[in-house]
Amino acid sequence: MNTKQRKAFGTAAADASLEELAIDRREPSPHDVEMDILYCGICHSDLHAARNEWGGSKYPLVPGHEIIGRVTRVGDHVSKFKMGDMAAIGCIVDSCRTCHYCAEGFEQFCEAGNTIVFGSPDKYLGGSNYGGFSESIVANEDFILHVPAGLDPAAAAPLLCAGITTYSPLRHWKVGPGSRVGIVGIGGLGHLAIKIAKAMGAYVVVFTTSAAKAADAKRLGADEAVLSTDAEQMKQRLKLNMILDTVSAKHNANDYINHLAVDGTLVLVGLPIEPLSIGAFNIVKGRKSVAGSNIGGIAETQEMLDFCAAHNITADIELIGVHDINTAFDRLEHGDVHYRFVVDMATLKG
Ligand code: NAP
Ligand code: ZN
Ligand code: ZN
Repeated sequence: MNTKQRKAFGTAAADASLEELAIDRREPSPHDVEMDILYCGICHSDLHAARNEWGGSKYPLVPGHEIIGRVTRVGDHVSKFKMGDMAAIGCIVDSCRTCHYCAEGFEQFCEAGNTIVFGSPDKYLGGSNYGGFSESIVANEDFILHVPAGLDPAAAAPLLCAGITTYSPLRHWKVGPGSRVGIVGIGGLGHLAIKIAKAMGAYVVVFTTSAAKAADAKRLGADEAVLSTDAEQMKQRLKLNMILDTVSAKHNANDYINHLAVDGTLVLVGLPIEPLSIGAFNIVKGRKSVAGSNIGGIAETQEMLDFCAAHNITADIELIGVHDINTAFDRLEHGDVHYRFVVDMATLKG
């Protein structure tokens, strides 16, 4: 298969910094679209994967899965995109398309195993595939999203993972007017969850370990902010119907379950490596549930982008150059970002 060498920014090992490297991209086949990458968000999952915190990372690893770009070439049979379109790619770039879950639009649960945008076996070129911290990308048109006009492309990039990962469970648990929703953690996922839950009509309470972020929560749209390090504030019983837990590190989920109403659900989207310990009494009393949710399917991702465009929702971003990615990773590790880093990929070319 013909390939083109492109610049990328990735890492050779779990304990190495990210640096510029060369990768191969396939030439577009008949159903493929090639995009020049304009912006790519930095998700905490990029950090977990680059540092092999979950195990199983393959190197060299080029992270990045919140990708916005401009279509540069389309294969002969491509019908959904044309040259010059603003397009986007999130976590999933392929799946079996035939299993029950793919047929239902749940490609994130594909029984045959979907292809994640980086670190998955590359079916075309062998080895592992590479993500969005690069000049360009090629993918099948069925896994590419349309970016609605009116969305700022840099601030829209985080919608491709942080947006869908929070939109999908909020929809699944039927959040709407009258719902009382809690969001734990005001990071990339959490700050978008506030905006989306609010746009769905919910009453939104956030839990944060940061006094500065608590003070900023109302600007983001929250109705209440609770400083989770303040034992007095945590003694309240907030009777929430659903709590979305976006925390990336070890924490005590029971502290938040205390705030669920009868029949309420704590939904985990954060992926710390340590197992959670749940007090039986804490869920038995109040018939509470603990659940999880994983990104979202392709059709739902498009629905989320259209919803965000209709409600004027994008991420609050810190726009950085590729050479700032290592510093950004260190700041992200410490929850020090307002509220999503987005990489201007033009800085890789310059
Ligand atoms: P992030 O920007 O780093 O946000 C995580 C937030 O969690 C931090 O800003 C901080 O909020 C809070 N936090 C961190 N350590 C904490 C601790 N020890 N105790 C309490 N709160 C703590 O990360 P993100 O990109 O939003 O991702 C969050 C998690 O979701 C990561 O684990 C990521 O891998 C995972 N993820 C899962 C999916 C999925 O499909 N399920 C998709 C994307 C990402 P405060 O400063 O407000 O306390
Ligand atoms: Zn992500
Ligand atoms: Zn499938």
